[in-house]
Amino acid sequence: MGNHEEPAYKRFEGTCRTCGKTFIYHNSVKRHPDHQECPQCEAEKIEWQELLEWSGFRRPTQEEARIARDVNEWWWYPDGDIFIVLPDLDLNNLFKWVVSKLVEIGYEITVRCFSGKWDVSLFAARQPFPDIDIKCIEDPKQALFQACYKVMKKVRDE
Ligand SMILES: [Zn+2]
Repeated sequence: MGNHEEPAYKRFEGTCRTCGKTFIYHNSVKRHPDHQECPQCEAEKIEWQELLEWSGFRRPTQEEARIARDVNEWWWYPDGDIFIVLPDLDLNNLFKWVVSKLVEIGYEITVRCFSGKWDVSLFAARQPFPDIDIKCIEDPKQALFQACYKVMKKVRDE
């Protein structure tokens, strides 16, 4: 019983565990509310994962998962390490994993700060990769993340 009952959706207020902002979400009253991140942070997490996968992070192959049966949900890092989670989105990890990949395919990076706002330029030495400029962003992590994500999207999808 219960499978075909109308789902009752209700408004909830949550506090995002990543940015700390209060946000509204809708959930079935029958389910335990499990929203821990606001829509922006959730979207950012998906983009960060895309960027990392492009930079060489991956799930185990069928063969690897067969050998070590409990690693299916684990992440294989480009340097050969294996962890259950991806690295956090921060400046250190952006440089370590993503900028290094961009440099490897021929990019030069320039980071500037004017009156507390950050500009990031990614210049492609090799064609046909695109040049990207992100300007006037207060958070340097966001400036670098957005620039890297834009390049990745174009290089990956074109
Ligand atoms: Zn958030």
